[in-house]
Amino acid sequence: VDFLKVLPKAELHAHLNGSIPLPVLQQLAKEYVPSGTDSDSTLLVIKSGIEKLQDGVTFDEIHDFFNLFPAIYALTSTKEALARVASAVLAEFLGLKEEEECPQATYLELRSTPRKTIAMTRLEYVETVLDEVEKYRPDQAVLIVSLDRRMSKEVADECVEAAISLKKRGRRIVGVDLCGDPTAGDMEHFTSHFVAVKAAGLGITLHVAETTENSPEDTLKLLSFKPDRLGHATFLNDEAQGVVIRERMAIEICLTSNLLCKTVSDLETHHIRYYLKKNHPVAICTDDILPFRTNLLGEYAMLLAPAPCGLGLSEDEVERIAAMGHGSRFRINT
Ligand code: IMP
Repeated sequence: VDFLKVLPKAELHAHLNGSIPLPVLQQLAKEYVPSGTDSDSTLLVIKSGIEKLQDGVTFDEIHDFFNLFPAIYALTSTKEALARVASAVLAEFLGLKEEEECPQATYLELRSTPRKTIAMTRLEYVETVLDEVEKYRPDQAVLIVSLDRRMSKEVADECVEAAISLKKRGRRIVGVDLCGDPTAGDMEHFTSHFVAVKAAGLGITLHVAETTENSPEDTLKLLSFKPDRLGHATFLNDEAQGVVIRERMAIEICLTSNLLCKTVSDLETHHIRYYLKKNHPVAICTDDILPFRTNLLGEYAMLLAPAPCGLGLSEDEVERIAAMGHGSRFRINT
């Protein structure tokens, strides 16, 4: 464990609202005051979401996981609450806990989907998160703006414009992501967005082939946006895999997330093994530490642990994987 603690680890795939420390969310729930437009159903959503997270959630399938976010979002929809959770998430990854000499991660690319609420615009959402990110050094924390597959073209336009204009103003945005319910949306309608993102010199990372429901056409369309990195990439067919290998698109691997959402049945058959054999870049990441009750150290421990709980890799191999994570970072001024 000492070896893993001191190993410099880059976290490249962490969703802000999925990474809030539970005590912080519980505190926000305690302080929650319904506003005029809140209905009783919002309160019920919050109560049941918090109860599930406290009890430890189990998922029959990936859609159960997405059902948790309405409760979380109800609690992070003011600038103050958003700043608080962003600060807590950054501290969770980069701060030192009592009696520990090493942070969980030495570098964090945090990602979040700009949300318009009655209290803030999408641009203000991103600025609020950036204000917290920029309290750390540029070699410690940066931000990726996420688009959601369910977004309308107009909303995606707004998010991309916010990302590009803030980057131009020297704010610490390094890339754009595409996430959300893997079965939703028509990927064709994001083409112009990713052309603009690339032209602005931002990195591109896309959740791709996360479930068996993603069609090969959906996957190939996403790969045509020429992403630098891919989230999950669990169910690529031979053609897609060929593109990924040829273009050296790094794969963000989230072991616990895949196991708990049941998109992968065990570590023996996990697709990370294929990429390691090919010496193809991978980055070990957590995805959403709140529902998955994991952390970056735990994900790395799974690499070292013997089968069936881990991959049984050697320290040298794990060191090489950690270096691949750092090597897959987005550059600030690309
Ligand atoms: P946010 O972007 O900070 O609001 O983080 C939560 C959001 O990230 C969720 O509503 C999802 O859209 C997205 N997300 C989190 N985990 C996953 C995943 O495993 N696959 C796809 N989308 C995800």
